[in-house]
Amino acid sequence: MDGSELDPQTTLIHAGRGERGPGAASSVPPVFSSTFVLGGEITYGRYGNPIWSALEETIGALEGGRCLVFASGMAAVTAVLETLPMGASVAAPKDAYLGTRGVLGERSETGRLAARLVDITDTDETLAACESGGMLWIESPTNPMVGIADIRALAVGAHAAGALVVVDNTFATPLAQRPLELGADVVVHSLTKYLSGHSDVVLGAVVTRDDGLYDRLLHERSSTGAIAGPMEAFLALRGLRTLGVRFDRQQRNAMELARRLEEHPAVTRVRYPGLPGDPGHSLATEQMNGYGAIVSFELENEGAAESVCEKVRLIAHMTSLGGVETSIERRAVWAGEESIPASLLRMSVGCENVEDLWGDLSSALASSRP
Ligand SMILES: *Cc1c(COP(=O)(O)O)cnc(C)c1O
Repeated sequence: MDGSELDPQTTLIHAGRGERGPGAASSVPPVFSSTFVLGGEITYGRYGNPIWSALEETIGALEGGRCLVFASGMAAVTAVLETLPMGASVAAPKDAYLGTRGVLGERSETGRLAARLVDITDTDETLAACESGGMLWIESPTNPMVGIADIRALAVGAHAAGALVVVDNTFATPLAQRPLELGADVVVHSLTKYLSGHSDVVLGAVVTRDDGLYDRLLHERSSTGAIAGPMEAFLALRGLRTLGVRFDRQQRNAMELARRLEEHPAVTRVRYPGLPGDPGHSLATEQMNGYGAIVSFELENEGAAESVCEKVRLIAHMTSLGGVETSIERRAVWAGEESIPASLLRMSVGCENVEDLWGDLSSALASSRP
């Protein structure tokens, strides 16, 4: 089925289902087989699986490119970096996802790559770090500062410098942002987050329109074996079918909580691009279709922030993001995140009733005040 004229909210429900013949299964079943009778398209379980194809067709239709599913978001990130030649430069955000920064740091120590960490919301600074034959790695909104990078301008400038442009679109999802249309060459996802949406699977994906790059990434996956299990792929596709309703609700809840937090006397700063006073607001409005569902906010001090994490009852004190359940954490507790303001709490807003969420958050805030 050609989903090109359909709204993405419809595409994600209908793509990848195959022929609708009499007796056909509506849901694509996971295929638990390591090997396949020769003569067909798939020969062996490290090269392909029908459930991967269904998931890839769906994500590919949403992002507007060809998709490959990987064993995790980090397997997808690493596969993309592996396409670079020895010693190639990678300009990446200072506050990039911790795992990505870790791989870049380790690869730089051995000379495999040369990472240059930049403020990705500063277009001039970022472009000055882009080199011919290298890569520009973009995250927007950023983690956990929720800053907005000018993807279109960065893509034009990086291409002029001869660098390949990659966007980690995990925070925005393809419903809120389509980087390939903004000029990026590659999109990376941690399906673990919003796309699967239920905190029950770890999986990743890469999407590109470049056939040569697609072939290299497919070879990389087949040869190194960073593949998805059939059950994980099934769960991810099942979750993805409801991304539209989940993400609509999450974004609405995030907007409402951000507004209320902004008015709260215990909160010193709220970072959410949906707020009209946020530094990323106008760029996000122009480049995105929505503002995502990550809200970061700062309190008077680290103790107050720790106290909120301890006192929330409905909201879970845990890492990760993108599930139907709301979670909160103080990012500065993680090694490598020392530059994050000590009192900053990153909240991944879920699908619960917003009054229940506010009731929990506001009572935790009230009792946390010094
Ligand atoms: C979680 C995450 C990753 C890594 O994904 P895993 O599925 O945990 O391997 C990469 N980028 C971003 C932005 C993430 O949030």
